[in-house]
Amino acid sequence: MPDCLSDLRKKMVTSLIRGKQFNRNRLQGKYWRVILDGTGLFYFKEKHCENCLCTKIKTEDGKTVKQYYHKVLEAKLVLSDDVIISIGTEFIENENENVSKQDCEINAAKRLLPKIKKAYPRLPVILQGDALYATEPFMELCKKEYHWEYLFMQKNTRQKILGEGFEWIKAGEDAVRQHGLCKEKESGFFANHVEKVAGKTQTMNVFEYEYHTKDKNGKTVTICFQWVTSLNLTKQNLEEMIIARRGRWKIENGVYRIEHLNSKNSNAMKNHYLLTQISDILMQLYLAWNPYIKELKQTIKNTSPSSPLDEKDIS
Ligand SMILES: [Zn+2]
Repeated sequence: MPDCLSDLRKKMVTSLIRGKQFNRNRLQGKYWRVILDGTGLFYFKEKHCENCLCTKIKTEDGKTVKQYYHKVLEAKLVLSDDVIISIGTEFIENENENVSKQDCEINAAKRLLPKIKKAYPRLPVILQGDALYATEPFMELCKKEYHWEYLFMQKNTRQKILGEGFEWIKAGEDAVRQHGLCKEKESGFFANHVEKVAGKTQTMNVFEYEYHTKDKNGKTVTICFQWVTSLNLTKQNLEEMIIARRGRWKIENGVYRIEHLNSKNSNAMKNHYLLTQISDILMQLYLAWNPYIKELKQTIKNTSPSSPLDEKDIS
């Protein structure tokens, strides 16, 4: 059953891409942005099914308790600022309860990517994701295996050598600094082909954007983002690349509350989830093409329950 729902989704997505209405939103006029995003779906105090992921948490009174949960990795296609739709879904789950190492987002991505390639073999894709993905093996997978471009966030905690490399690169003569970028009119820098400096063999271009904002106490704070990409950076495309990575980054699941998914049967749960993704595509298109609906959308959002549900709500 999940396969036939995936097929339906694929038909919808293919016709949207072929329709050309969204072509102008491609990055650098060519690449369709596909965002990888892992989302926690729901948590349980007791084991829910044999595929549950498990973690230990400390309660307020200092006790350690086990918590069971389900996660899903979504691949979302950016059609426009308003329309970001699910084109691939991979459940992050253990094969059984006795696995020595739990399933994780990276492994789920390795299962999900070939499915996307198979469904959209000729689509020029730029894959976007967290710092989690900014590793050499994953960059190589993108380029060599799937012939996709990539754009990943970079954090010092994840890639220490690369983080130190950034400081070298910034001080070097190949770094290009640019001012007056984005709505804050602040500055960024980029440098192409820094793989050697960063201790990598994969082609790597890096860029950074730094701006100032006020925190909740009114104190000025500096926010700095760093990214790595396989695309060549220029003075002309730097701002577009920064905006691409700052855009609606944390994906909301439309106006639906997927925490409401409720089934002890894991197949039924997956079908339910895929159906919410399909209805989300329809809802987003409807909202994007109907300006009057946009106001309504806010109303629906404001009236839907937003507090995370506890166990009694999902049993
Ligand atoms: Zn479960």
